[in-house]
Amino acid sequence: MENKKELRNWLDAFNLDHPLVIAGPCSAETEEQVLKIAHELKDTDATVFRAGIWKPRTRPGMFEGVGALGLKWLQKAKEETGMLTTTEVANPNHVELALKHDVDILWIGARTTVSPFNIQEIAEALKGTDKTVLIKNPVNPDLALWLGAVERFYTQDVKNLGVIHRGFSTYEKTRYRNNPEWQVAVDLQNQFPDLPLILDPSHIAGRRDIIFDLCQTGLDLNYDGIMVETHYDPDNAWSDAKQQITPASLVQIMKDLKIRKEEGTAAEFNNKLNTLRTQIDVVDHQLIESLGKRMKIADAIGELKTENNVAILQSKRWNEILGAMILEGEKHNLSEEFILRVFKAIHQESINHQKKISRMEEA
Ligand code: PEP
Ligand code: MN
Repeated sequence: MENKKELRNWLDAFNLDHPLVIAGPCSAETEEQVLKIAHELKDTDATVFRAGIWKPRTRPGMFEGVGALGLKWLQKAKEETGMLTTTEVANPNHVELALKHDVDILWIGARTTVSPFNIQEIAEALKGTDKTVLIKNPVNPDLALWLGAVERFYTQDVKNLGVIHRGFSTYEKTRYRNNPEWQVAVDLQNQFPDLPLILDPSHIAGRRDIIFDLCQTGLDLNYDGIMVETHYDPDNAWSDAKQQITPASLVQIMKDLKIRKEEGTAAEFNNKLNTLRTQIDVVDHQLIESLGKRMKIADAIGELKTENNVAILQSKRWNEILGAMILEGEKHNLSEEFILRVFKAIHQESINHQKKISRMEEA
């Protein structure tokens, strides 16, 4: 798939002067709930109303969605508020039902994007449609798999496409429910600048208090929109309660976000500069995280050495690391002098950590 301007026709047609906002509950729960939230969102920046009808749950026994019945509620929400609607489809049967109920935008969930078989079936069921299809990233950080899904739709003549970045699962628990790994989305954006990119801060965060910051980072990275889980009573939502926010909070977030508009050469320059700076910030955070991980491993080595009465400083090992890193640095265009300085500082910090551990153990 080459880069195609037509991919974003559906988004340009909205003619918005702010990023696209998709909002609504994680799950449609009752008719009243759907209509109440849709009405609360009606006069906000939200253009599209979301609600999951079929919920892919990691473990069985949790709320699995109301099923096809909820599609009627979405239809009613559209009639009453004029908002467009979107829901997740995970198989050709869902597609058929969603199309029958006039759902405007279909999204593909993270657990579906991982399976080329499922994607192929859904793409064939949607062959030639003029509906918009938004494809969430797969649960694992694999850009080719994500792009492969986009290509499968494109090949079936589905031309109104976009992607949703919802983060990637990790075994290790981090501050996020799903690690953003911004670099994956930035790489995708660099390869396909005209493919609309939407941020789902709710599933990245898994909690409410960092939704704003995630949205701001997304906008600074030039994302085209956000999809935010919104409920009038978030704490009592039937799914993803911790991460949902009220429609009023969403309005406040939209007010507080710094939205940059691309106009004129100075603004364009600032935009580009901002995007690049945010990319640097992302990499810097990764550096600190990696250094923190390295020190934890050094701590474990420190414990082992103390238990076995082995000296902390082992010059042979240190010289081996340095030699290997200088060679590795060359591959990445990093000078020997720089590598020496960085690794001396890292090594010193490791030694400090290990000394602290040995003092603690001996005390
Ligand atoms: C959702 O949007 O509610 C959802 C289930 O998302 P994901 O596929 O990103 O987990
Ligand atoms: Mn959800």
